[in-house]
Order: sequence, then C-alpha cells, then structure tokens
Amino acid sequence: MTTRPFENRLALVTGASRGIGAETAVALAKAGAHVILTARTEGGLAEVEERIHQAGGTASIAPLDLMNGDLVDGLAQHVAGRWGKLDILVLNAGQLGPLSPLSHVPPKDWEKVIQVNLTAPYRLLRAFDLLLRQSDRARVIGLSSSVGPEPRAYWGPYAASKAGLEALLDSYADEVANISSIRVAVVNPGATRTAMRKAAFPSEDPESLKGPEVVADALVTLLTQDFETRHRLTLPKKI
Ligand code: NAP
Repeated sequence: MTTRPFENRLALVTGASRGIGAETAVALAKAGAHVILTARTEGGLAEVEERIHQAGGTASIAPLDLMNGDLVDGLAQHVAGRWGKLDILVLNAGQLGPLSPLSHVPPKDWEKVIQVNLTAPYRLLRAFDLLLRQSDRARVIGLSSSVGPEPRAYWGPYAASKAGLEALLDSYADEVANISSIRVAVVNPGATRTAMRKAAFPSEDPESLKGPEVVADALVTLLTQDFETRHRLTLPKKI
C-alpha cells in the first residue's frame, strides 16, 4: 500500500475534537486526505488541525453543534462550493447519555442522545448525499457499539440510538448501492481509551484498553479496502 492512499481525497470526520474522531482525522490526513474536522469545541479542533499540519497534512476546521441541522446543511453548501465532492464521511460524533433505568432518563437527555447519534447522521447523509455521489470512490463509515445489536439494561437511549444508526446506514447503503460508488460500513470500535469510555466505566484502568489511535489505524486500513457495502467490523478490546 502506498503511504498516501488518500491523496486528492476529501474526508469529513465528525467528533474530531478528541478521542477516536481526532485520531482518525490525523491518520486520514497522514494518509494524504484533506480532512474537514467538526465538533463543538473549537480549541480541540484547532489542536488536531495543528497536529495535522505538524505531520505535513492539510485540514479545515468547521466548529458546529450537530444538533443544529441547518448548520449541517450550511457546511454541505460550503463543501459543494469549494470542493464539489466528498470522498470519505466518518460519522463518529457521539453522546453516551445517562446510564440508568429508562424511567429515570430525563426527556432532554433522551433527545440529546437521539439527536447527536441518530438524527445528525441522517442530516449529514441528507446534506452530503449529492457530494458523495460526485466521488468515484465514496465511503461512509458509522461508529456504532455492541449495545446497538445487543441492548442491555440501563443503556436504553444510547443502545436505541446505535441500533437506529445501523438501520439508517444499511437503508442508505442499499439505496445507493447500484447507482453510485458509495459503500457503507458500520464499525464497532470496542472498548477504547477515551472520555466516553471513562464516563461509562469510571473505575476501569484506562491502561487496560487500547488507545484511539489503534481504532484510527483500523479505520484507515478499512477505507483502503474494497469492502462490500453494509460491511461490519468489530474491533477487540485490546489489539
Ligand atoms: P468522545 O471522546 O466522547 O468524543 C465524542 C466526540 O463527539 C467529541 O469530539 C465531541 O466533540 C463530539 N460531539 C458530541 N456531541 C456533539 C455535538 N452535539 N455536536 C458536535 N459534535 C459533538 O467519544 P469516543 O469514545 O471517541 O467515541 C467516538 C464514537 O465511538 C462514538 O460514536 C461512540 O459512541 C463510539 N464508541 C466508542 C467506544 C469507546 O470505548 N470509546 C465504544 C463503542 C463505540 P465536542 O464535545 O467538542 O462537540
């Protein structure tokens, strides 16, 4: 494999201010892509952009709250005007929400998890569909979780959002399979040393987990492959 397989490719990574999204953005840029970084925290995005520049790559930052669908539409319009296509879309941003009995989940927390984990991916697919179709090799990757296909007690909002995300991505994959180059994959990164994992398992030793750069490398490898659309990849806790 060439060291820069994504030369002249444009990638958009959501949730790129920290964790898996940040490392994925850096890895994609090192592999030659120009990467658009989005999240709410402008300082985090600027730090990731600086890391990319230090590594000899290129990036643009687009600070926005994914709960605002109009901002997603605006970003797509900007990308259309400047680049006219999108090659790689990584739907990574996520909210864990409360881990508690469903009857204790405040409606505003339910709304937030569903909006960020499910409605925002729908808005991104809706807004970027035409730009993905302009690519001769488009790839969409969604970050899911083991609790999507296998829900368990106290993880209701997050599990429902990830099950919905997988259904959304499979529906989109089938819609565009025969009329575009777009291929869609769902990745379950498995336990990974990030802020979200710490919030879910505060007493766990972070050193017992793989780092987010391991997930990033696996995503970049997947993106270089000609996987079948509706592909599933699950990574182990340690690699
Ligand atoms: P993380 O460290 O909590 O990072 C989440 C990212 O999402 C941040 O960059 C955050 O940026 C962004 N985000 C959250 N709300 C947003 C909003 N309203 N608008 C825009 N961006 C928003 O999480 P992570 O562990 O890296 O997780 C990445 C993905 O992997 C998620 O989809 C998660 O469900 C999945 N996953 C993680 C694990 C794990 O063990 N870590 C396991 C299974 C699945 P701002 O706060 O700056 O907006």
